[in-house]
Amino acid sequence: MSAAMVIVGAGLGGARLVADLRNEGYEGELILIGKEARIPYDRPPLSKAVLTGDKDDVDLQPQEFYTEKDVDLRTGMCVTSIDPDAHTVTVEPVEGGEAETVAYSTLILATGLDPRSLPFAAGKSGVHTLRTYDDAMALRSEIEGASTAVVIGAGFIGCEVAASLSTKGLEVTVVEPALAPLAIALGEQVGTMVGRIHADRGVQIRTGVGVTGITGEDKVTGVTLADGTELPADIVVLGIGSTPVVDYLEGSGIALADREFGGGIACDEVGRTSAPDVYAIGDVANWRDEHGVPSRVEHWNNVVEQAAKVAYAILGVDESNARPFVPYFWSDQFEVKVQALGHPSAGDDVHVISDDGTKFVVYYSRDGVFTAVVGAGKAGAVMKMRAKLLEKTPISELLG
Ligand SMILES: Cc1cc2nc3c(=O)[nH]c(=O)nc-3n(C[C@H](O)[C@H](O)[C@H](O)COP(=O)(O)OP(=O)(O)OC[C@H]3O[C@@H](n4cnc5c(N)ncnc54)[C@H](O)[C@@H]3O)c2cc1C
Repeated sequence: MSAAMVIVGAGLGGARLVADLRNEGYEGELILIGKEARIPYDRPPLSKAVLTGDKDDVDLQPQEFYTEKDVDLRTGMCVTSIDPDAHTVTVEPVEGGEAETVAYSTLILATGLDPRSLPFAAGKSGVHTLRTYDDAMALRSEIEGASTAVVIGAGFIGCEVAASLSTKGLEVTVVEPALAPLAIALGEQVGTMVGRIHADRGVQIRTGVGVTGITGEDKVTGVTLADGTELPADIVVLGIGSTPVVDYLEGSGIALADREFGGGIACDEVGRTSAPDVYAIGDVANWRDEHGVPSRVEHWNNVVEQAAKVAYAILGVDESNARPFVPYFWSDQFEVKVQALGHPSAGDDVHVISDDGTKFVVYYSRDGVFTAVVGAGKAGAVMKMRAKLLEKTPISELLG
């Protein structure tokens, strides 16, 4: 009997991949190994409805799904090393216990990210990062007794957490060293437009200033800024980015991508790594894009797309009839849904199509070609641009 197909990481990528493999007719043994004790769940609600207390159940599939699909789901188990020559992984129970060697025919790595911390944040209660369900619950449990919060970092997670904490009645300040929220993802002009949504609802946004320390002995009391300001805080949330989880690859010889291109596991355009029969998907994976450029993406739709592509590649399914992929992500901040279709880039030209102070639509272009549309509260106007993005439409045609 041939060895099992083994997937490391029981998050969105792992859960989607097992479903895709079964849907495409794979009948062999499937092992899904996950470090967390929970069955695979969805992360986007963690910074939104879970934090505000409006949602508790975020499981991607009910437990029975894995039984019905004959998936050997092993939660609370951590893969600690890989031997590509022997086609085996070492698996250890997170709670301690004996390590086991598991053989694979094909191995797919979907181990996601770990949130970054700050050296001076260590060991202080009231300081949080947000990646897991447990992280969200730990933060949620402190909201009731708190009146002030400082969010460090105005990326998507920082902005969403700020909106959720503000919705719960906390006085929230977001501190961001760049000149606008979301400046890296959307550029300064559009980031500033998103920042207005927060400012209008009472969130203080302090841009262009770094954090120098977190005050308080055991429990946080505030945050000090490079300009000498001290902000009081019962809660501090670090939203300063994440790093790919690749520690278990040490000694495996599996190549990593350059940090300049986002790091993570280096893959070709269908997710193959440098080791035979080993693929990587999701936030941890650095795939080559259609121009051969390595890039790592940290958005939900990208994971779903990569899981499907890898299933096709492994099973040899012809995907020439598949709907062409256009990158998409969304972010809910207060009642406003910010959406992006295409590849918005901070260096692109920005064209404001409409803007009423909260809701807006913006087109991006590079070298005269339409590259992305970003909207706030404008789902229809964003989604209808899909074909124009695929056609690489000259921006002049759209600006009329
Ligand atoms: C708070 C939050 C909000 C988000 N909101 C949005 C949003 O609004 N829109 C959007 O487009 N995207 C959003 N995202 C991003 C989206 O959720 C991610 O892109 C997606 O979850 C990535 O899936 P993944 O399978 O690659 O990684 P994950 O979902 O992180 O799963 C990886 C799993 O692998 C496990 N693992 C790691 N190492 C090992 C090991 N050695 N052995 C076994 N298991 C291991 C981890 O414990 C984890 O459970 C959000 C993410 C977060 C954290």
